[in-house]
Amino acid sequence: MKKDINPTDIIVGIKTLKTLRDGRILIETCSEEELNSLIRAINTKCGEQLEIMKHKLRKPRLIIYNVPEEITVGNVTTVIKAQNHEITLNGEDITAKFRYKSRKGNYNIFIEAGPHTRKQILQTKLKIGWEICKVEDYLVPTRCYRCSRFNHKHSDCKGEETFPHCAGKHKLKECTAPISEHKFINCITYNRYHKNEKIDENHSALRKDCPSREAVLTKYRKTLIINMGKKHYQQNTVTLRQNQHQN
Ligand SMILES: [Zn+2]
Ligand SMILES: [Zn+2]
Ligand SMILES: [Zn+2]
Repeated sequence: MKKDINPTDIIVGIKTLKTLRDGRILIETCSEEELNSLIRAINTKCGEQLEIMKHKLRKPRLIIYNVPEEITVGNVTTVIKAQNHEITLNGEDITAKFRYKSRKGNYNIFIEAGPHTRKQILQTKLKIGWEICKVEDYLVPTRCYRCSRFNHKHSDCKGEETFPHCAGKHKLKECTAPISEHKFINCITYNRYHKNEKIDENHSALRKDCPSREAVLTKYRKTLIINMGKKHYQQNTVTLRQNQHQN
């Protein structure tokens, strides 16, 4: 590819260019515009040999806990701006996504904010109505569609097919387990190695307050602090993979 495309010709500034462990090449440009022209150039010159994956821009997502009941997706951003003057948006904005009621009956609201605003919000607690609300990064663990284990995708899966609801070795269509027989493979595995401190394994992979899921999120939070602003919010990147069926 380097032979075929000259970044100077298409006026693209390359910020990062590296080969990932799995052989893919990752390229980061300085802006989305530049990324698009780079992708166009790659497509024209060597689109047949390469599989091109553009990374979606995603704003940091945060979860606000124990929001008063009268605060909704419709009014939460106005309330945050009115009651928390130490947060300077710097041209960024806050978008409320959705609200949900936790098992304990509390309301939590998910918001999106720019990286600068996120940092400020996480340094304080949000004053909302008469409450002072805790805020955390909203993270979703990567869970494999094939084997239901955490931290890899199905394209990298070396495990056995395991259905997320019942831990059975079958696909969705073949599942006959009622909710009362739901089991989560990650909690079963944990219990196998921790005979003295067993956790509840009788639930599907979708349960939000599962200890296995929590453990993964705790790890994510630690690496997020280390990589702040680097890895997780990397924008304007594309990865290239050699097409498998060609030699
Ligand atoms: Zn897997
Ligand atoms: Zn099943
Ligand atoms: Zn669990």
